[in-house]
Amino acid sequence: MSDSSTSAPREGSLEAPGRHPLDWRNPEFYDESALFAELERVFDICHGCRRCFNLCHAFPTLFDLIDESQSMELDGVAKDEYWKVVEHCYLCDMCFMTKCPYVPPHEWNVDFPHLMLRAKAVANRKGHVRARDRILSATDTVGGLASIAVAAPVVNTANKLRPTRVLLEKTLGVHRDATVPEYHSNTLAKRLRGHRSVEESGEAAEGTQGKVALFGTCYGNFNEPALGEDLVAVFEHNGISVTLCDGVSCCGMPKLELGDLQAVDRARERNVPQLIALIDQGFDVVAPIPSCVLMFKQELPLMFPDDEDVARVRDAMFDPFEYLMLRHRAGKLRTDFTTPLGKVAYHVACHQRVQNIGLKTKEVLELIPDTQVTAIERCSGHDGTYAVKTEFYDTAMKLVRPVAKRVADAEADHYTSDCAMAARHIEHSLANGSKAELPLTLLRKAYGI
Ligand code: SF4
Ligand code: SF4
Repeated sequence: MSDSSTSAPREGSLEAPGRHPLDWRNPEFYDESALFAELERVFDICHGCRRCFNLCHAFPTLFDLIDESQSMELDGVAKDEYWKVVEHCYLCDMCFMTKCPYVPPHEWNVDFPHLMLRAKAVANRKGHVRARDRILSATDTVGGLASIAVAAPVVNTANKLRPTRVLLEKTLGVHRDATVPEYHSNTLAKRLRGHRSVEESGEAAEGTQGKVALFGTCYGNFNEPALGEDLVAVFEHNGISVTLCDGVSCCGMPKLELGDLQAVDRARERNVPQLIALIDQGFDVVAPIPSCVLMFKQELPLMFPDDEDVARVRDAMFDPFEYLMLRHRAGKLRTDFTTPLGKVAYHVACHQRVQNIGLKTKEVLELIPDTQVTAIERCSGHDGTYAVKTEFYDTAMKLVRPVAKRVADAEADHYTSDCAMAARHIEHSLANGSKAELPLTLLRKAYGI
């Protein structure tokens, strides 16, 4: 352990947590011995702390390695075994944001997710990345190919057939039982091409412009295009004009999770100028997937702390329910709901929780009369691709079990999650034929539009 960690530091920081920018362009960032020294320092702090034992599988992996070693201390764990911890981290940020008392400005300076990201970046630079992971993280390329009109039905049918799934498992490492998303040839981009809201000017209120550019996201474009349509219907019902962002690509989150920071940089180069052009025309930006919102609100600003355009996009980027709640505060959200929802079991996605905006989805849904929302603040274990990978599928199914149990125990009329992929994962775990409905879909239903 470093000197700073042995000189009787105070237990936890009393100051507001801060986060250092990611020093990813510094050659030392990729120095393997420096990385391992830092892994050793932080793992030892975590061993003495153990608060994060139930957040994901990364910490149990670390603690098991230590407890099963001969010395029962970190020095009994071979350095090569550290990678086992790294591969179970999917960068949800929950340990940093909700548990860790040793984050900056505490002198121990623990940023576990960023350390995992650094390790992934080192592995990536050394070429230690499976072809499967490169393919799964190329969400816009794969989505573009799989949603071609002639390909989509073939891909969707093949994904439901046992022999093809066994083949997919053997060749690519996608677990045969994992839920894989459906592809739509009628993408969101096609559905909203040339779309213009009746109300185009937008009425500013509470830091919102009243006109938004929709960053459709890969998943929203290719896999759940109805989600974007629900957003447009709800926003326009509330006098907010919506236009679809043109010329943008994947936000870069799947590449970040792979440690491919150069690919994240390329995504920034494509997306940020397009978004700035819209912001200059007076638009705010919303995205229906929390991970993509987080990419622009947090990850890019930490990677490019001196980039003014990245900062402007950060400031104009909103979670849809955060946006609606701001409009409500200004008295500009319609509450003429026609359909009560009854009991709603609501899974709070990690990437929305760590935005520090509060439970905005719950707050909006609770404006609907005769609607009670039970929030479930626990990781679903999906993380975009973790749950489909052969080697992680069983762990992902274990992680989702307590969430699915809470959903079942709630005996709710509807269950939902901010994250569409988490919603489908919960559905898969319940395996009772029920279907999750996404929050924007529920809100649209409540408005009767
Ligand atoms: S960032 Fe999330 S997945 Fe990674 S170690 Fe922390 S809680 Fe676990
Ligand atoms: S990340 Fe922080 S809270 Fe979690 S186990 Fe490590 S030191 Fe403890």
